[in-house]
Amino acid sequence: MTLTRHLLPDELDLLLDGETGFGVQQLTGHLRDCASCRDELSALRVFVSDIETLPEIAPRVGFAERVMHEVHVFEPWQVAIRTSVAGWVPSSPAARIATGTAMTGAAMLVTGAAVWGWAHRDTTAFIGALVTARARDGVLAALTATAQSLVGPLGDIVGSGLPLLSVAGATLVAGAGLGFFGLRAVAARARRLEA
Ligand SMILES: [Zn+2]
Repeated sequence: MTLTRHLLPDELDLLLDGETGFGVQQLTGHLRDCASCRDELSALRVFVSDIETLPEIAPRVGFAERVMHEVHVFEPWQVAIRTSVAGWVPSSPAARIATGTAMTGAAMLVTGAAVWGWAHRDTTAFIGALVTARARDGVLAALTATAQSLVGPLGDIVGSGLPLLSVAGATLVAGAGLGFFGLRAVAARARRLEA
């Protein structure tokens, strides 16, 4: 049985490697009849022996580091933030225990305050209502003032009240979005500088 087509690159590779397994016979059979494939195989033999005579060159010290310094590895922002936070965790066990103790103490303090607030919830509710009312008035005033300063001449058209507060709300949302993307940019920047 002989092949009715020329040899494929992986079939030529098999012959180059000196394979003798099943199926090689029909490849060598085609070689006997086909000068074109014989030429191709001998050209490949010359190429392989040329490669084997090439001198071996060792790269200069620090080659991998220099290449990797130019490679920007993509790192999602949440991973970058986690790595940054991990950088703040002290490395020595004693410092870790101290930090852990301090954080546990802070957590217990907050829990204690919450429990106290629940136990004295009448007082807490009173103070809370007072603070909330003050805060609400303050926030409303600040929002209106901010909106008026932001909207400027448009404020005369929009007027005060709900439309004005909607504009202010949209501005705050836009500001929060900018802050979020700013944080991402800072995290990415910190990551690049660290690398
Ligand atoms: Zn052929």
